[in-house]
Amino acid sequence: MATGTTQINNDTVLNVAQLLKEHVGAKRSYEVSLDMLPLDDSITARDVTAQIKLTRIADGILVTGSLAGQARLECVRCLEEFDTEYGGDVEAEFRPTIDIISGAPIEPDDDGDAFEIDDSHHLDLAEMLRQVSILTLPIRPVCGDDCPGFVSEFRGSDEPPPDEAGDERLAVLEQLLDDSREER
Ligand SMILES: [Zn+2]
Repeated sequence: MATGTTQINNDTVLNVAQLLKEHVGAKRSYEVSLDMLPLDDSITARDVTAQIKLTRIADGILVTGSLAGQARLECVRCLEEFDTEYGGDVEAEFRPTIDIISGAPIEPDDDGDAFEIDDSHHLDLAEMLRQVSILTLPIRPVCGDDCPGFVSEFRGSDEPPPDEAGDERLAVLEQLLDDSREER
């Protein structure tokens, strides 16, 4: 088998039947390009590229590599949408659900953090790429140094509006502290 990198466009499903039959340590390389990758109900990443290496390990297949993409996020302060680039490392294990030679079902592993290879020996990268993307994106995105700031005292904050005046004053103070920290 050639050691070259296989290009995949707008697909995340790899057939790993052949690799599963090979010895531990056998490898495949892919470059996966996706125009769109839905991350959740409101965010869809665009122009996602993943450099992926598949390695046969005793329990299945180890996927390592990196990914980069773009996403449109909503600024937590001014609530304007803005585009940001993101990227991160990829590392995940995929386990077969049936034995490649005998076809017998394999009991799912207890630890639960491995992804599954389906019974047609298809390894779908989509959910892993989605999870890595979400972990890589900022939890409280701010559009940039030119951000005009909060549109009001409480919109754009994750906290529910306080129902007492004392809490309200405290929240304003916290925002001021927040602002001065970010400006440093
Ligand atoms: Zn902003």
